[in-house]
Amino acid sequence: MRIRAHNLLCIQGFVGKGYSPEFVANMKAVVGGLRGTTEVTVLDAPDSLCAACPNLKAGGCTLHGEGTERGIVTQDRDVLARLGLRAGGTVTWGEILDRIRESVGPDDLDAICGTCPWLPLGHCKEGLARLRGAPTPPRP
Ligand code: SF4
Repeated sequence: MRIRAHNLLCIQGFVGKGYSPEFVANMKAVVGGLRGTTEVTVLDAPDSLCAACPNLKAGGCTLHGEGTERGIVTQDRDVLARLGLRAGGTVTWGEILDRIRESVGPDDLDAICGTCPWLPLGHCKEGLARLRGAPTPPRP
């Protein structure tokens, strides 16, 4: 499984919504297949989830227009640094969850995710709070 680093956080907030029916179906399949022992190669480039996204073009992510991919790579590298991982490294999904639990809290998403349209919906902060076993924060 190949997953770009910021998507490790997006997965925590996945509630069956996404950019297209194909994207959602693929995301469900990828997320549903993750077990503690699943080996995940972490990337700072388009991944198994981006592969079914209508925003993925030849130069990478175009969600916010030209230049989006550069910003997303920066986001990936921020997450890699926070998790103590390197691009291209392979670790188990269980270890990734442990690292997220220890190093990324719900409020960190304000700094990590920038203008992501999913952030205001609250699902990602809720997912990270669940991962930490903390009470779910109120929605804005
Ligand atoms: S707010 Fe956006 S980038 Fe951040 S974890 Fe959620 S979906 Fe991913």
